[in-house]
Amino acid sequence: MKLTDNVYVIGGGSLGYGISSPYDCNVYAFELEEKVILIDAGSGMGEEDLLRNLSEDGIATERIHCLILSHAHADHAGGASGLKMRLGIRVLASALTASIVESGDEERSSLSQARKEGVYPDGYRLTPCEVDQIIGEGDGVGIDSSIRLQVIPLPGHSADMIGLYDPGSRSLFAGDAIFEAGKLAVLTTRDFSMEQYRLSIERLSSLEVDHLFPGHGAAVLVDARASLLAAQHRFEQGLPPESIV
Ligand SMILES: [Zn+2]
Repeated sequence: MKLTDNVYVIGGGSLGYGISSPYDCNVYAFELEEKVILIDAGSGMGEEDLLRNLSEDGIATERIHCLILSHAHADHAGGASGLKMRLGIRVLASALTASIVESGDEERSSLSQARKEGVYPDGYRLTPCEVDQIIGEGDGVGIDSSIRLQVIPLPGHSADMIGLYDPGSRSLFAGDAIFEAGKLAVLTTRDFSMEQYRLSIERLSSLEVDHLFPGHGAAVLVDARASLLAAQHRFEQGLPPESIV
């Protein structure tokens, strides 16, 4: 489904667009000239849905340049190995995400806890995936010399989270760092940190953002900065953040 001039949503589960496996995060396709960058992979259980949605949006798989993972939680990274194999694409992630995804570590990805809590089916496993390029603070991602997406570390929801910001279209791909109306995703996992979350939101609140593409729920296509400021405002007032989970 086309959301803006150059952004499509091609996957989304029960907390979002409902166009792929219920266990999937939102999966975005970002068009950059003739190429397309995928942002997040979903759980892997909706792989066929993602490919069908790409096709229905008129995006030929040959145009897909790479896949960037926002963090290692299974609803975002579980599908990476399948997509890498099916599409023959490179996978980019932060060093911390890579260390979890490459080993398929279900403790550090918090999958073992989430599975116990019934968030995923019993038999679901994190399929390890080799990461081709490590990205971090100050890096840009693009096609050849056309760099568009800036990497912003956003720890809090998880220690390994990154966001991707396109200053040209003032778009933020936020992973699970922030959602519509300034909601956050507060967890009880081992690497969740409210203090880190607060600092990440503070950082985001100074960014010029028109379009917010979160990992769950609806994208915010008008005045997305209001969502960032709403989250920042609650922290400033000492109020607990509103959470989507
Ligand atoms: Zn997450």
